[in-house]
Amino acid sequence: MLDIKDLKVKLEEEDKQILKGVDLSVEDGQVAAIMGPNGSGKSTLSYVLSGREGYEVTGGEASLQGQDLLDMDPEERAAAGLFLAFQYPVEIPGVGNQVFLRTALNAQRKARGEEELSATDFLRVVREKAKTLNIDAEMLKRPVNVGFSGGEKKRNEILQMAVLEPKMCILDETDSGLDVDAMKLVSQGVNALRDAGRSFLVITHYQRLLDHIVPDVVHIMADGRIVKSGGPELALEVEKNGYSDILSEVR
Ligand code: ADP
Ligand code: MG
Ligand code: MG
Repeated sequence: MLDIKDLKVKLEEEDKQILKGVDLSVEDGQVAAIMGPNGSGKSTLSYVLSGREGYEVTGGEASLQGQDLLDMDPEERAAAGLFLAFQYPVEIPGVGNQVFLRTALNAQRKARGEEELSATDFLRVVREKAKTLNIDAEMLKRPVNVGFSGGEKKRNEILQMAVLEPKMCILDETDSGLDVDAMKLVSQGVNALRDAGRSFLVITHYQRLLDHIVPDVVHIMADGRIVKSGGPELALEVEKNGYSDILSEVR
């Protein structure tokens, strides 16, 4: 699904190397977790994969289902099936959630050469998805994220993911203040969307999210590289002992 080879990235504005050779593969249908100390480059990796400005790739490759991601603009990456959640809970006053979702979905369909969905067809799809995810249809009418609570924003991201049907979902749990209810929401949504043709990269500082979203593999990132990979037990080891044991072992 996702293949990253020796990816090196620096800040555009500063002479600061952040990713120093990331090697990472995510298989079809796999849920992979990335953990690591603060500042190790986890969010930078997700930004670079989604095509955010401000970063310069100085080496390596990244491909999605064999397509070179680094060559595409952000919209092309999204149309190819990449989805980045939780980084941009942008508020869009005046734009109803439903209109926003339909516009986003149809833009992607158009880019893939698929027929756009009519308002009626879209409504059927989005209502069905909302129902499956236990999301109140009322949320579809509200302006995007405006006045949403933290939990509602997360719920909305899950709904976006369900509607857009991406192949590769990247979730960056930047919000260390995720409460238990929000965490359950996110994990129930992710678990409902787990599928043989869809992969997840779940980035988290803490093990607790991985109690709910049980990953197939856990990767530890430190100082701009993946330094160790293992099964779910690796996350438990981190929870118990912190990163210092793993880091000194790697050094
Ligand atoms: P993580 O998500 O693992 O906590 P980040 O990717 O956010 O790590 O950051 C990695 C490193 O890059 C940190 O040292 C951070 O300060 C630095 N960094 C990232 N983006 C910027 C930026 N736009 N300007 C300055 N430093 C940045
Ligand atoms: Mg951080
Ligand atoms: Mg981060």
